[in-house]
Amino acid sequence: MKKFLITACSLLLLSGFAVIVTACQSSSQEEADLSLEEVDPSPEEVDPSLTEVWDPVPAEVDPGDAGTAPSDAIVLFDGTDLSEWTGNDGPPAWEVKDGAFTVVPETGTLTTIRAFGDVQLHLEWRSPTEIVGEGQGRGNSGVYLMGLYEVQILDSYDNRTYSNGQAGSIYKQFIPEVNATRPPGEWQSYDIIFMAPRFDTNGSLERPATMTVLHNGVLIQNHVTLRGPTEYRGEPEYEAHAAKLPLTLQDHTNPVSFRNIWVRELQNYQSY
Ligand code: MG
Repeated sequence: MKKFLITACSLLLLSGFAVIVTACQSSSQEEADLSLEEVDPSPEEVDPSLTEVWDPVPAEVDPGDAGTAPSDAIVLFDGTDLSEWTGNDGPPAWEVKDGAFTVVPETGTLTTIRAFGDVQLHLEWRSPTEIVGEGQGRGNSGVYLMGLYEVQILDSYDNRTYSNGQAGSIYKQFIPEVNATRPPGEWQSYDIIFMAPRFDTNGSLERPATMTVLHNGVLIQNHVTLRGPTEYRGEPEYEAHAAKLPLTLQDHTNPVSFRNIWVRELQNYQSY
């Protein structure tokens, strides 16, 4: 009986301790949330260099080959036409040639006709063979999940820029773990697993977006939690949006090419 009482008392003490620890954690989380709310939301005056991170520099690794579309994928480009896409003001103006399509500078963003939420996305891209420009001006494009969350496309082969803006970065939010970029003129692949954010009926964030990215088969983003939509200036901040939105490809005035793009809509996948 005495032993039973000692055990029962010990359990009660441990439960009390757990409650106190949980309360402390909640309190520090609330403080963190408050400090986030105090950040000025993206005014045009903010110097974009304030959010550039140049160190650490991801180590270079040798990438493998790209894959092909699984049978349950929606093929967004099979080498023939841009029938799954639209331009800013009508049909896409980007050039389709030799099984690929290429940005025609300053003709605007390419947007899928279909909308997507949680997806596995595969796409292949190629920086121009002729090297023009440097840093962010060299082979720049980008794939935006839901048109909002950018995985940077850039010629990051021997081309230094801020680390959270190089190829495979989740632009201005996450530096890639390594730099798996192939030389300009060679085809490269991205495989992206994206879980869309969830908002409640009042528009409050229930669950942030998460992303996993493989570059040329190499894991470079491992289930990272996004702080909000991509922002060039200032800090990101979530705003409620639809459960599904189109994918977009960026016209950053560099003639980046694309091929073999497919997407699998994720259903019944547990991410938490
Ligand atoms: Mg870009």
